[in-house]
Amino acid sequence: MYNSLKIWMNGELVGWSDAKIHVMSHVAHYGSSTFEGIRCYDTAKGSALLFLDEHVRRLWESSKIYRIEIPYSETEIKDAIISTIKANNHKACYVRPLVFRGQGALGVNPHRASIEVAIATWEWGTYLGEDVLENGVDVKVSSWHRLAPNTLPSWAKAGGNYMNSQLIKMEALSDGYAEGLALDHNGYVAEGSGENIFVVRHNIIYTPLAAQSILPGFTRHAVMHIAKELGYEVRETLIPREALYIADEIFLTGTAAEITPVRSVDRIPIGNEKRGPVTEALQHEYLKIVHSGEDPYNWLTFI
Ligand code: PMP
Repeated sequence: MYNSLKIWMNGELVGWSDAKIHVMSHVAHYGSSTFEGIRCYDTAKGSALLFLDEHVRRLWESSKIYRIEIPYSETEIKDAIISTIKANNHKACYVRPLVFRGQGALGVNPHRASIEVAIATWEWGTYLGEDVLENGVDVKVSSWHRLAPNTLPSWAKAGGNYMNSQLIKMEALSDGYAEGLALDHNGYVAEGSGENIFVVRHNIIYTPLAAQSILPGFTRHAVMHIAKELGYEVRETLIPREALYIADEIFLTGTAAEITPVRSVDRIPIGNEKRGPVTEALQHEYLKIVHSGEDPYNWLTFI
């Protein structure tokens, strides 16, 4: 499944199985990496990357927060992403640029370790399972909270931060749910293990504040933009846990998850237990852009 011909590694395209790192790489011990997840869509006008500039910018910002100096320019990495997709003959794929600390330091202090960059691409379908874009997913409120402020920086998309996401995801799966929703350190709704969350009630769309230990995603931003274009009121605000149970609709957003409806939370049915009309309208507009290649907001980079 996660396989293709080539991976771009430190400046050159190498065979998938040759893209290796040493076990004494700093990243393997301390989680010192930053990364991105980008989708390339097979639109009616050709293959196009969604939010390429924004994702590459965020890779730089995540790295800046963790004092990682990437030894390439943003343009070089964008070009490398496109070369990798072409080398793998993908029409549509998921793109994973990864920056990590390599060999040279064995202690916590990372500064003597090398900084390495890899870009992998592979063909990937729906993130949370087949049919979920229509039927929705069952989720639970996790017993694990998101990162508290000033512990790990939630605005950085960094490897170590995802130890928290793994706890949320594994607990949800072992309890029979597709995904876990985490509360922030104050007990307000924050996000899923790899998605932002939206709650619809009385035709108003609510989403947690960017400062609430979330990764403020580009899909979240796109959905807020589309919602306003469609005339909905969107409020970024604190959402108490109980608002989930009495919501008319809930959906999750992310590059991988796209716009995924939630049909139950903690086995309490949401709305009529399938995709609601607001979710459907937003999904329709979003998927129209990435499938047709009509790009009214300049979100696509054709390759
Ligand atoms: N939150 C977390 C924790 C994530 O991992 C992701 C996926 N990158 C998101 C939110 C959604 O971000 P985006 O829409 O930019 O993919």
